[in-house]
Amino acid sequence: MSAIDPLPPLRAVIASHGLSARKSLGQNFLLDLNLTAKIARQAGDLSQCDVLEIGPGPGGLTRGLLAEGARRVLAIEKDTRCLPALEEIAAAYPGRLQIINGDALQLDPLAHLTPPIRVAANLPYNIGTELLVRWLTPADWPPFWQSLTLMFQREVAERIVAAPGSKAYGRLAILAQWRSTARIVMSLPPEAFTPPPKVSSAVVHLEALPEPRFPADPAVLSRVVAAAFNQRRKMLRAALKGQAPDIEDRLIAAGIAPTERAEQVGLEQFCALARTLARP
Ligand code: SAM
Repeated sequence: MSAIDPLPPLRAVIASHGLSARKSLGQNFLLDLNLTAKIARQAGDLSQCDVLEIGPGPGGLTRGLLAEGARRVLAIEKDTRCLPALEEIAAAYPGRLQIINGDALQLDPLAHLTPPIRVAANLPYNIGTELLVRWLTPADWPPFWQSLTLMFQREVAERIVAAPGSKAYGRLAILAQWRSTARIVMSLPPEAFTPPPKVSSAVVHLEALPEPRFPADPAVLSRVVAAAFNQRRKMLRAALKGQAPDIEDRLIAAGIAPTERAEQVGLEQFCALARTLARP
């Protein structure tokens, strides 16, 4: 029996199912169930929510989410080797865990979820940023999720919560802070994982705002911010010259000096620039 449920400890699960970690799948497992329950608590009150979990692996966080009272968990896992271990968790929590075997980048899980929906995951580092950007940039807002509670490399977590003027400030900060509140809620050293990764990690909690802080078209904002920070050392009139022939006028119309650099420009001004660029 484990600390939080009647199932075996994770080390025993891994041994009995032969789940040696694979680097190609970004597998760094959390084996301390007290820790996974603590991460689950950061996601808020789960009792009325469906939780989408990407990459459950042997099920440490899945068990944390269920033990903390999630109404239902939908877990998407690419590695077929993990499925028998996950089925054992489903049997211990009848009707509360659905497992889908597949690639989270290819699947649309929405048909299997009932709102309100929260997302919680110890993501594979190689797909974490891509999924986050997708979840932050749907055409319509509010999105399908109420909150995202996600593990990232510490450096990526700092980029998500960064303020203007800092080195970490860039596209991720702007997309995250435009339509949500984002906070680092936990820090984890490499030794918290098996095997330990080379870098430290952090859990970021994002709550969707009812509407964006400033109006802008998500595709235009995403494009202009990517271009601005791709050449972050250049003045914006140079970094953005491919965006419009009259880019200097548009920068001025948005209240931005054409000689400024991207990292000095705040969210409100970037949204104003996206609006002027959306005009013919
Ligand atoms: N959640 C588990 C934990 O905390 O111990 C495992 C975390 S491990 C960092 C990432 C998990 O994501 C692995 O189980 C891996 O097989 C799975 N994974 C990798 N790529 C995936 C993808 N494209 N879609 C779904 N799962 C994926």
